[in-house]
Amino acid sequence: SDRPNIRNDERSAAAFARAKQVIPGGVNSPVRAFKSVGLNPVYMERGEGSRIYDIDGNSYIDYVASWGPLILGHAHPEVIEAIKRTAEKGTSFGAPTELETMMAELVCKRVPAVDVVRMVNSGTEATMSALRLARGYTKRNKILKFEGSYHGHADSLLIKAGSGVATLGLPDSPGVPEHVAANTITVPYNDLESVKLAFEKFGEEIACVIVEPVAGNMGVVPPLPGFLQGLRDVTAQYGSILIFDEVMTGFRVSYSCAQGLYGIVPDLTCFGKVIGGGLPVGAYGGKRELMEMIAPSGPIYQAGTLSGNPLAMAAGYTTLKLLTQDVYEQLERQAVRLQLGFEANARKHGIPSTINRVGSMVCPFFTDTFVINYDTAKTSDLERFKAYFAAMLDLGVSIAPSQFEGMFVSAAHTNEDIDATIAAHDQAFGRL
Ligand code: PMP
Repeated sequence: SDRPNIRNDERSAAAFARAKQVIPGGVNSPVRAFKSVGLNPVYMERGEGSRIYDIDGNSYIDYVASWGPLILGHAHPEVIEAIKRTAEKGTSFGAPTELETMMAELVCKRVPAVDVVRMVNSGTEATMSALRLARGYTKRNKILKFEGSYHGHADSLLIKAGSGVATLGLPDSPGVPEHVAANTITVPYNDLESVKLAFEKFGEEIACVIVEPVAGNMGVVPPLPGFLQGLRDVTAQYGSILIFDEVMTGFRVSYSCAQGLYGIVPDLTCFGKVIGGGLPVGAYGGKRELMEMIAPSGPIYQAGTLSGNPLAMAAGYTTLKLLTQDVYEQLERQAVRLQLGFEANARKHGIPSTINRVGSMVCPFFTDTFVINYDTAKTSDLERFKAYFAAMLDLGVSIAPSQFEGMFVSAAHTNEDIDATIAAHDQAFGRL
């Protein structure tokens, strides 16, 4: 391989070389390739609780959590059991099952803004479908999103996106037609004045505002006080739809998602990640009046061969059932413990550090600047991040290979895991 090795990684390196022959870039999702950190990706063999094990026999305390879904940790026994039990009865029917209704009832009960919910298979499908619904309902074409926010890879949303796109430095993707991009207005996150200006100019044409209520794809960036309420007010004033993209925050930052945490009621909400308990699930839901515009009750088309898949519903339903209020309190405690430890290490080593955290989403930036949007997130020292990432991997801690992603604390992380992570962070900072 052309990239340096970290721990013993002979098998991972060979696996990557083999994959590159038959998979574009060797991976099925770009950020997995570790390209931006200049390393070979690590191939996983199994996960259990807070730990993952690679094919060379290294183990890691994991904070990637499959990029968010595994809030209960890896291979939670009850989730695995539910999948097995369900699989024995068949994996898919393309006919309705009662599990889908149970899942929908649970989501509607926990999320006040959701009266009706449609299951899809990924976060991308959820946001893409929510956009179509907002445009179809309002009969308007323009949408407003925030710089550095990632909402999946639908054409309209791949404009000034964060996450892997930010990491790879692609402001827009080739293949997104200009006339599509022209309908997407982008403004800085947390900048209500810019939103208002956009509405003064284009208000009657804007179908929706789509926002991550806690941004998670420019690193973790909490909404400033009044920002979400401001979006609620301005969209209501102009008859525009407010979409909360809770693909990352949904059932992650609180029992009733970010909207419960901040007390804001959007018109539509998108889900993904945690809602599928590690299987491919997305969902979008909201006001009945809006949602009943979707086929078959209404004219706006959206469908899916495997949508509401029994295995996925079993994993998601079991995960949500296990996520009681107590679990969120425990997650918060562990995440605070991690944050405080990291902050003490940064002071000790005199390394500039700003740590943003909402619930169990934790994001250390290498900057002294207050991180409130994509521009301030980019003040983080990315070369330092690279070295830090490599050191943490070497020390047995798995974090996302990108500064523009948070760490996900799971219910499987023990005090010992957190303390071992803080110790690794201390050592890593010693090497920087
Ligand atoms: N919205 C947000 C906020 C996300 O974080 C992501 C994925 N990271 C998506 C949408 C897209 O979800 P998926 O990768 O399941 O298509």
